[in-house]
Amino acid sequence: MNYPVITLRRGKEESLKRFHPWVFSGAIGKMPEEPVEEGDVVEVKSSEGESLGVGHYQIGSIAVRMLTNSPLQIGDEFYGSRLADAFRLRQALGLIREDNNAYRLVHGEGDFLPGLIVDVYGHTAVLQAHSPGMHYARNIIARKLVELPGAGIENVYYKSETTLPYKAALDPQNEYIIGSYDTNIAVENGLKLHVDWLKGQKTGFFVDQRDNRLLLQKFAGGRKVLNMFCYTGGFSVYALRGGATLVHSVDSSAKAVALTRENVAVNFGEDAPHEAFAVDAFKYLAEMPDGAYDLVVLDPPAFAKHRGAIRNALRGYQKLNARAMEKMPKGSVLFTFSCSQAVSKEQFRLAVFSAAAQVGRRVRILHQLTQPADHPVNIYHPEGEYLKGLILYIE
Ligand code: SAH
Repeated sequence: MNYPVITLRRGKEESLKRFHPWVFSGAIGKMPEEPVEEGDVVEVKSSEGESLGVGHYQIGSIAVRMLTNSPLQIGDEFYGSRLADAFRLRQALGLIREDNNAYRLVHGEGDFLPGLIVDVYGHTAVLQAHSPGMHYARNIIARKLVELPGAGIENVYYKSETTLPYKAALDPQNEYIIGSYDTNIAVENGLKLHVDWLKGQKTGFFVDQRDNRLLLQKFAGGRKVLNMFCYTGGFSVYALRGGATLVHSVDSSAKAVALTRENVAVNFGEDAPHEAFAVDAFKYLAEMPDGAYDLVVLDPPAFAKHRGAIRNALRGYQKLNARAMEKMPKGSVLFTFSCSQAVSKEQFRLAVFSAAAQVGRRVRILHQLTQPADHPVNIYHPEGEYLKGLILYIE
């Protein structure tokens, strides 16, 4: 192992010693003698010369994303063993079954692979790089994914055009690194889902709502359900399986609405009590009649993509929840979510509280929700926790 060395300023080694996986640019005392490029592997040392591990260098406020805390060689063996560890965890979670083949295999820092996301849909893995270092490692990672014993991965689709820092000028192409197009019907808890990783958002599907969808199914019996921000209709198909008497799915994207209709038809045929509408959420909520739905899901896109947007985001969550709550009859259930990483659990709960108070409803919290176990949070990196939700009983 012989990587360029970044030396930290005095005292700045503490957070790395506590296993936090990032080095901020302000902590750097001395850059390597030799030129380093974005995405290079570097070794990080304390001001005393002690090795603190190895990571990917990047230009920006996070200067190094740590890959190991020991001076390891970063190559085939490293990626192979990290991916095998990640796969073992998903097996232990019971996610790889005949009736479930959609799961997140790598969740960045939560799997000690900062900057890397891998979602698996049957025989296809969708790989997303969020750092230049992972972009350069994509071919090794793809090869190691296909070699993973027991995972059955045959195709690897690389999809990082919108996730890499645009200033890095890497010009990533969305393309198959290994294999080619495969049937894109994934199975989640026995429900079939058409996943479009080529054209869809993120890796094509939101695997992070799996557990919460199952909970919705339990509440759905005999209820009239509104699935707002439905995307591909994940919550809608669970609601139908749970015995909802009517399900309405709403999304501003016509493509999403078409996919939702398709997913309902694939599971329940053409006669299911379901309709989907391509309409803006606020417009739909303003125009829907009082008491139309007694089970509502609000799963909007991230309102705050960075810290500076938090205030506006909180106002957005308050407004959205107030508009829904004021029209829900006594005895309704509301599933409400935020996937903004910059918004904390407490802030989100306060926004929902403000909505309840604003419309003067009696509201109780039945469940507090989060991301599922295949999106693990590294305890030394609380920033990895992003999804939060509440199930509310509205009177
Ligand atoms: N609940 C979904 C994921 C939602 S992602 C699931 O379980 O898979 C957020 C969705 O909100 C996207 O599909 C996006 O098209 C939609 N969206 C964004 N802005 C919107 C708006 N103003 N009104 C309605 N839908 C919107």
